Amino acid sequence: MGENVKVIVRCRPLNQKEIDSKCDTILETGDYTVAVVNPLVRSAPKKIFQFDSVYDGLSKTDKIYNDMCYSLVESTLEGYNGTIFAYGQTGCGKTHTMQGEGYSGAVDSCGIIQRCFDHIFETISIATSVRYLALVSYLEIYNENIRDLLSANESIGIRNHVLKDIPGVGVTVPTLTSQAVMNATDCYNWLNVGNKNRITAATLMNEKSSRSHTIFTISLEQIQESSTVGDSPRTPVIGGIRRGKLNLVDLAGSERQCKTGAFGERLKEATKINLSLSALGNVISALVDGKTKHVPYRDSKLTRLLQDSLGGNTKTLMIACISPAASNYDETLSTLRYACRAKNI
Ligand code: ADP
Ligand code: MG
Repeated sequence: MGENVKVIVRCRPLNQKEIDSKCDTILETGDYTVAVVNPLVRSAPKKIFQFDSVYDGLSKTDKIYNDMCYSLVESTLEGYNGTIFAYGQTGCGKTHTMQGEGYSGAVDSCGIIQRCFDHIFETISIATSVRYLALVSYLEIYNENIRDLLSANESIGIRNHVLKDIPGVGVTVPTLTSQAVMNATDCYNWLNVGNKNRITAATLMNEKSSRSHTIFTISLEQIQESSTVGDSPRTPVIGGIRRGKLNLVDLAGSERQCKTGAFGERLKEATKINLSLSALGNVISALVDGKTKHVPYRDSKLTRLLQDSLGGNTKTLMIACISPAASNYDETLSTLRYACRAKNI
């Protein structure tokens, strides 16, 4: 199981504000290790963490994709499920990693999600003996409520979609919008629609988007051409369809919200964020461990939703995003501990 779960770290560069304030850096990165210096006692022993791979501030998303995501996406094209998570404190590069700086066509500006679209449709366009049907959905979990980001005819933010455990199918959101996509451009368009809806909802409800989890899912159904000559791709072929699903997850900021003196609604949010992030950590470490019989999927909406895409013969990649700045020492340590625990128990 350990092989199917990979945990990597990406360190962002210092930002302009940190450079201007002459902020110290506290990280020393190797290919597989991160050493953290205590900024208050620089001579104290460094804390060293090991991962499947570590990327420094100069590394490009392109390299991370080729090293770590390519084979995961290939396996979803073969009919397996896969999940890529971005975890970390707000401002450390989760969205930069997953979505880049918007798709402008420049290689450096796009994120893992856009690369997945290109990769998947390049493969589909040259597939000879297989026909694919691709569907996308995009949802947000805020305060343990599920919101459909692709729905056109509901008041986003008001409706809470319900998870159902359907025997033989698994855990699904039956009311979630699923859009058929024919090419990568269709995918970019739906991603943009969802991002706009997310902003609208957050504004309407006076929420912070850093406090929600988003899941963009691409479902791929494949049919062997030979067995379906003359059929439309929609025709159910009993036993002849293979289904793979790729989940691209931008998690809520992992920072401890309580330390800032949150109360009321904010405290409730913080508790729920921490609940799903810790549930996710527990599920992943139970899977890596392999010996634990009970995998606590039921503990949060996030883990219930992703139940069929975590464990078994699915592939999981967790990207822990961290800051090199001394001012983020506590949060960086806590992110590294979380990521390490997911992999190492
Ligand atoms: P998060 O989604 O974790 O809150 P963002 O992805 O929004 O963080 O990143 C915060 C800021 O830092 C953005 O302006 C982003 O462009 C920048 N940034 C993050 N990671 C990198 C990186 N690896 N290289 C360059 N800029 C980055
Ligand atoms: Mg973000």
